[in-house]
Amino acid sequence: MELIVARNREDLVKARAGGDVALVPTMGALHEGHRSLIREARVRADQVVVSIFVNPLQFSPNEDFSRYPRTFDADLDVCRAEGVDVVFHPAVEDMYAPDRQVSLSAGRMGTIAEGAVRPGHFDGMLTVVLKLFNLVQPDMAIFGQKDAQQLALIRRMVADLDLPIEIVGAPTVREPDGLALSSRNRYLSEDDRRVALALSRALRAGAAERTPSRIRAVARAVLDAAGPELDVDYLALVDPATFDEVSESYEGEAVLAVAARVGSTRLIDNVILTLNPA
Ligand code: AMP
Repeated sequence: MELIVARNREDLVKARAGGDVALVPTMGALHEGHRSLIREARVRADQVVVSIFVNPLQFSPNEDFSRYPRTFDADLDVCRAEGVDVVFHPAVEDMYAPDRQVSLSAGRMGTIAEGAVRPGHFDGMLTVVLKLFNLVQPDMAIFGQKDAQQLALIRRMVADLDLPIEIVGAPTVREPDGLALSSRNRYLSEDDRRVALALSRALRAGAAERTPSRIRAVARAVLDAAGPELDVDYLALVDPATFDEVSESYEGEAVLAVAARVGSTRLIDNVILTLNPA
């Protein structure tokens, strides 16, 4: 089957086919992490739709919206190679009317951890994801665990707004040395990249401990040892569903999450661990 490129909502309606539809929302600059989500979609659904849209609503004025990598032709090659059926690539003006008024709020969960550092980011992210859900009308959508708070908020949105869409979380794909793949990694110099390895190293070291206080302390020590080139925004050990910090007696799955800047590049990473198993 030929890959269909839908550039507006009319194209998207024409591309509709029967059977189960899986949506993989992305901002493009596709890498092996995106490919793993596409493969997950491919085994689960009859039609795979990948959206490629750098969403201005989720960037604040001091962030990298205009500098975000855009590699559309290479992205189309990736989609062809992975057997994607439809790429949805709308223009910003097609998605947002100049007189638009209504948008979503991520609530309190949008103001903690990543949301505390990036005010409004999760409101903008949920607004575009809901619009993509309405436009594509998928039966399921695949998101990476790499953006753990995003995944938790999308699950929250689906529950709170009764959206008839199954949300599938997919594991984080890493470089052999542990660095989580990210479209922003291309901005790391060789030196930056060495410093950036402290994120995954801190998460691994933390995850080898047993209690929340030890996990936090050991992970923090690894981050501190990376020196001043690593500018840490936060290290958090949280409940994966609420992103509230866990207490010392917490039992069950937790997420150890970190965000830091290396040079002018901001990186996030996380691991899932189980606390106080019975
Ligand atoms: P982005 O294009 O960065 O907005 O990401 C699009 C989707 O790919 C999101 O669901 C991300 O969580 C997911 N993703 C990004 N990096 C990775 C990775 N290293 N492994 C797995 N999924 C990823």
